[in-house]
Amino acid sequence: MIDVSQLYKSYGKNEVLKGIDVTIGKGEVVVVIGPSGSGKSTFLRCLNLLEQPTSGEILFEGVSITEPKHNINATREKMGMVFQHFNLFPHKTIQQNITIAPIKVKKQSVQEADQIAADLLKTVGLSDKKDAYPNQLSGGQKQRIAIARALAMQPHVMLFDEPTSALDPEMVGEVLDVMKRLAEGGMTMVIVTHEMGFAREVGDRILFMDGGVIIEQGTPDEVFGAPKNARTRDFLAKVL
Ligand code: ADP
Ligand code: MG
Repeated sequence: MIDVSQLYKSYGKNEVLKGIDVTIGKGEVVVVIGPSGSGKSTFLRCLNLLEQPTSGEILFEGVSITEPKHNINATREKMGMVFQHFNLFPHKTIQQNITIAPIKVKKQSVQEADQIAADLLKTVGLSDKKDAYPNQLSGGQKQRIAIARALAMQPHVMLFDEPTSALDPEMVGEVLDVMKRLAEGGMTMVIVTHEMGFAREVGDRILFMDGGVIIEQGTPDEVFGAPKNARTRDFLAKVL
């Protein structure tokens, strides 16, 4: 589904990504771990060209999205993204937050979009919040709505950048549960997280990034159970 080769990204003189090569298969759940500043967010943002790579190629479903004449808007619709901060529209209801992009961008009818929103609200366990406003929701509820909103565009892949890092501890589980169910449903997912228990349980593959490169990758059992690289071992010793 995604094929990244020799991805480099610099901000001025700061070279943040230094040659990332990775392939992500359909239905795969890839969890990216690594220390702060290692380039995890930059990598994720390059995948949907929220950041323009300095060099390298990204193929999405066989199409090069890094070549200059590619229309990224059409591709972005197929990539849902959920950030640490939920960025819901404060003056729109929960239902409107979910339906605005499908109506405006996908040209869905209001009825169709409302129906899909109702199904998604059920999926994330928040059907009763349809007419509420974001400030009436807890952090965990807002993040579940942010996930529903991304899913409303019927993406082919979901990108998550530390979706639980800004939440109070008691709300982390409800968001991870929604993500776990999404994974079990076959969604292709790339997830940056510090939740190592979740990574081990739900990830098909773990990528350990440090210093702008993928230092090590493998199954959760390989990376958590028998890390090969000293930097991986050092990082895991600090976080586990
Ligand atoms: P991580 O998500 O692993 O913590 P980031 O990808 O956010 O790492 O950041 C990696 C490096 O890139 C950091 O040194 C950061 O300061 C730098 N960086 C990230 N985004 C920008 C930006 N928009 N402009 C300049 N530097 C940036
Ligand atoms: Mg980050």
